[in-house]
Amino acid sequence: MFTLKLDEIPDEGLELEWTEEKSSLSGYLENFPEIDFDFEDPLRSKAKVSKSGRAAFVKGKVETSLRLRCVRCLKEFFYPLVSTFELALLPLKETSKEDDVELEGSDLEAGFYEEGELRLSEIACEQVFLEIPYQPLCREGCKGLCPVCGSDLNLSSCQCGGEGFPSGFAVLKDLKLDR
Ligand SMILES: [Zn+2]
Ligand SMILES: [Zn+2]
Repeated sequence: MFTLKLDEIPDEGLELEWTEEKSSLSGYLENFPEIDFDFEDPLRSKAKVSKSGRAAFVKGKVETSLRLRCVRCLKEFFYPLVSTFELALLPLKETSKEDDVELEGSDLEAGFYEEGELRLSEIACEQVFLEIPYQPLCREGCKGLCPVCGSDLNLSSCQCGGEGFPSGFAVLKDLKLDR
């Protein structure tokens, strides 16, 4: 995993480009058992890193492709992802009220770094986490599975007669109304 010491950032800033292979990413993902996706491609990142006093600024871009699971039909699908971000990072222990004030009114996301070190790979991974849809769909209007027989309704209409059932949340809502 790629890290950078604050002391290594020259006054004029630094432009960086790095790639995280799938193997090292899956090791990192094991720290997050609640996460249900895999990287399909390496994670490519670019960032301009600068500092002002003890604050570090990272303006970057991440690009990769993920394998997500559709919440309706439960199939895995590829999800290409490109995201740009801008972060201000402050030292975790030394942060004072003054630093907070400095950041007020700016659009920057604020975060912290520890032990004088920016964990750039982790920052890049976090940006990916933020971009993952809460309820991934393999395609807009995925018909999902028949709630009765489990057939994939995108492939064929099923023979069980349950096809007319509204799916997912619609079912829950109707049940409530009937009571
Ligand atoms: Zn689907
Ligand atoms: Zn069916």
